[in-house]
Amino acid sequence: MSSVETIHECIILGSGPAGLTAAIYAARGRCCPTLIHGRQPGGQLTTTTAVDNFPGFPQGIDGPELMENMRLQAERFGTQFIEGEVTRVELGERPFKVWLGEDRYLCLTLIIATGASPRLLGLGNEEALYGRGVSVCATCDGFFYRGREVVVVGGGDTAIEEAVFLTRFASRVTVVHRRDTLRATPVLAQRALDNDRIVFRWDSAVAEILADQAGVTGVRLHNLKSGVEEVLPCDGVFIAIGHQPNTALFTGQLEFDGEGYIKTRNGTETSVPGVFAAGDVQDPIFRQAITAAGSGCMAAVQVERFLDDLPSEAQLSCQKGICQPAS
Ligand code: FAD
Ligand code: NAP
Repeated sequence: MSSVETIHECIILGSGPAGLTAAIYAARGRCCPTLIHGRQPGGQLTTTTAVDNFPGFPQGIDGPELMENMRLQAERFGTQFIEGEVTRVELGERPFKVWLGEDRYLCLTLIIATGASPRLLGLGNEEALYGRGVSVCATCDGFFYRGREVVVVGGGDTAIEEAVFLTRFASRVTVVHRRDTLRATPVLAQRALDNDRIVFRWDSAVAEILADQAGVTGVRLHNLKSGVEEVLPCDGVFIAIGHQPNTALFTGQLEFDGEGYIKTRNGTETSVPGVFAAGDVQDPIFRQAITAAGSGCMAAVQVERFLDDLPSEAQLSCQKGICQPAS
């Protein structure tokens, strides 16, 4: 086993807005963060073209460009980056242990920023059509559907909130739900039912997303009760069937909420002292880049305070961004 037995002051898992913001703050502070990218360097925003709601960019910014800027900023202050996906962690005692395949890393503190993945329908072409009519984020992409017809899949709070939001832009929003009652909370559901720009296709599933070279042209709907199929022309399909936090690695080692998100308290503290969680991995509600970045900042500040309270263990010093044993 090729082990790296240096004890890192702080390891950050994930390179989305939460992980990179944590790295910027930790690197500018007294810690020397080591950040492990995961298999999606830059996180979810690398899958979108225009980010119009991240403060500081009045003309908007491309998701990949925003994330590259964050990475450069974290690097400038001395963050050490490691490519790869963490495959196993042991959080039972300090130093915590983190594995990338056979390589083991030890750390005094851990910031988990592994994000969440939108649940998808499992249709062959939906991922290939990201950015060409298929979206998982109305707040992000709704603007591009001014005067156009869109479909929202799902019947929960997210789907209904997205459908209502999309009526600001789209000429018609069709909600496709697999049952005949909404899961969404009644107040929210009523708002959608009362909105004459929203129509519902109950008991229905999207059997196929239809597309040409330019992008989505419609959906083939399957009525789950009658078996009848119909083609519904549309320009966009918003999939809002829930998110899956990327927490499988931590099962049995950290407390989760009922939906599998890491439970945090007092900011970003988890159930294990010294382990902090930031961004979508601990956020079932807001799930925005700015809230992820904000909690990444909180996690880094909390790591610093935690290390300050561990005088005997915190025997590392950060010089020019490189962790070295304190002499
Ligand atoms: P993520 O961005 O999900 O990043 C998670 C990171 O963890 C990734 O780098 C991944 O590689 C890493 N990781 C996962 N597992 C492991 C592992 N085992 N080991 C190591 N690393 C791991 N929000 C907005 O505010 N504005 C927008 O315009 C906007 N547009 C969006 C468009 C799309 C298409 C999508 C999908 C989302 C959009 N969002 C937008 C939401 C926003 O992207 C998320 O809220 C935000 O990215 C969450 O940041 P995060 O750092 O918590 O996690
Ligand atoms: P959710 O509550 O799990 O709802 C997911 C919806 O998608 C359900 O209607 C479900 O159908 C449907 N669905 C799931 N898998 C499907 C599939 N494979 N094909 C078709 N449809 C599928 O998820 P959410 O709406 O994202 O909400 C998540 C949490 O965030 C909830 O606790 C919610 O209350 C909260 N939230 C709150 C607000 C708010 O307070 N304003 C806003 C957004 C989210 P069924 O109904 O048949 O299961």
